Amino acid sequence: MYRSHTCGELRLSHVGTQVTLAGWVQRNRKLGGMTFVDLRDRYGITQLAFDEAVNKELNDQAQKLGREFVVQVVGVVAERSSKNNKIPTGDIEIVVEKLTVLNASEVPPFTIEDETDGGDDIRMKYRYLDLRRNVVRKNLELRNQLSFEVRNYLIKNGFIETETPVLINSTPEGARDFIVPSRMNPGEFYALPQSPQLFKQLLMVSGFDRYFQIVKCFRDEDLRADRQPEFTQIDCEMSFVEQEYVLNMFEELVKQVFRNIKGIDFKEPFLRMPYAEAMEFYGSDKPDIRFGMKFVDITKEAQIRDFAVFNSAQYVAGICAEGCASYSRKELDGLTDFVKRPQIGAKGLVYVKCEQGGTFKSSVDKFYSQEDLKSWAEKMNAKEGDLLLILSGDKVATQKQLCELRLEMGERLGLRDKNVFAPLWVVDFPLLEWDEESGRFKAMHHPFTAPKPEDVQFIETAPEKVRANAYDMVLNGVELGGGSVRIHNGEMQQKMFACLGLSQEEAQSKFGYLLNAFKYGAPPHAGLAFGLDRFVALLAGLDSIRDCIAFPKNNSGRDVMINAPSIVDKEQLEELNIAIKLETK
Ligand code: ASP
Repeated sequence: MYRSHTCGELRLSHVGTQVTLAGWVQRNRKLGGMTFVDLRDRYGITQLAFDEAVNKELNDQAQKLGREFVVQVVGVVAERSSKNNKIPTGDIEIVVEKLTVLNASEVPPFTIEDETDGGDDIRMKYRYLDLRRNVVRKNLELRNQLSFEVRNYLIKNGFIETETPVLINSTPEGARDFIVPSRMNPGEFYALPQSPQLFKQLLMVSGFDRYFQIVKCFRDEDLRADRQPEFTQIDCEMSFVEQEYVLNMFEELVKQVFRNIKGIDFKEPFLRMPYAEAMEFYGSDKPDIRFGMKFVDITKEAQIRDFAVFNSAQYVAGICAEGCASYSRKELDGLTDFVKRPQIGAKGLVYVKCEQGGTFKSSVDKFYSQEDLKSWAEKMNAKEGDLLLILSGDKVATQKQLCELRLEMGERLGLRDKNVFAPLWVVDFPLLEWDEESGRFKAMHHPFTAPKPEDVQFIETAPEKVRANAYDMVLNGVELGGGSVRIHNGEMQQKMFACLGLSQEEAQSKFGYLLNAFKYGAPPHAGLAFGLDRFVALLAGLDSIRDCIAFPKNNSGRDVMINAPSIVDKEQLEELNIAIKLETK
């Protein structure tokens, strides 16, 4: 037996017991004639004590233990004279009688402690060591807990976990595919699934009724903090349900997760906000509603004087930052610089300070009277001491800029507390969105999403007006998941493909199997998928989903530990009938 207990288990009640422990040496310190070693495993840290006066040889052996040596000790649990109340085992130590080195270790490239001295790159290169750190492992334990809660809930509700293939054809979720060459079919390629979308719909045609899968998906996109080329979805689908039923089913799932994992009970139903409202008041389809500061449109009130910037704008709107009238010149300049950053793209920022005594001071005092500014302040519900921040220009672009400014102000004012959770559903998305690049409409969610029955009439004449039975769950400004009621009728699906500029032949060649399946009794169905990584990251208060993935990729899509991607042998390429055009390094 390698061990009788773990390194996190022993307490005062064990004093006097002989135990065997095994683990890694976290720290080794000499104190007079004594040597103290912190022994670590997944469960905690236990102090080992060696006394020169009792056993010189054993003490010498202990002093030679380096960091990360794997050791086994036999000893007796004793009460510690100087207790450490920072760790659960801090009242005891092991008076060691026998020490065995199970494996030596080289000096690790960074300290394996919560506050490590290792930078990102080195930790990723030695991720297996990084994963020994408590803070990282805790995220993966939380991930496991979340998967467990999800499976538990879904299986109780009759969902069947079903695996779907990974070597498939393109599933259009709006990203680029990763492709895999087929040796047995020269010149042909598989695509890795961007999601199991079509398979889960086919399972509904098969009568599975309720499907789920915790599944890897692959999207070749530029990476950001909340994106990885391979990520995990909680993918679900149901038959014979309407939107309302789906929302309730998965709202309850999220509530259960919060109840069981965070001890948070959401008593009220989640807010349901139409997409149009989210855009109008937050400039985003994933509004962070932990705080207000909603947009107020003052186009009419602003276009009354000789101020060309506002007069030429399609849209003038602002937010009211409570208590910020005291902002200094420097702070205001800082905000102007913020909105002018290339990635935000505003041309400038107009401010109005609502000062004590009902007067106003603004960057446009030259053009507007006190009365004018007062009318804006009133419309924006501002009080004395508040600061109005106003942007103008093309409506859609300005909404996006104002959204960034609102989030920035929320951050500065401490209104985006990671321990506060504000979920909502965003509903009634448009079915289609105009794509400048290709000069045609593309599906806002994906091409299998059903239009609202009352809007179908516009699908050929005014496609931009058609709303979809699509929904997203949004949490703290992050899209946690999304889905839709699906088209389950071949004719409607063809119409949708036509709308997206796909000819009948193209549709048949790409999605013939789905159109065929719809000929054999497809039930009405609907579903959604949650991003598991994002969910964990939100629960853990992490800034990046990387921190809750055991072996993530870096921002260039590389796994620096295993050095992937990498070049392959010439023979391998030949077998695949592939020639590389680029000079490889
Ligand atoms: N397949 C969709 C996605 O990956 C989710 C869904 O519609 O169920 O976003």
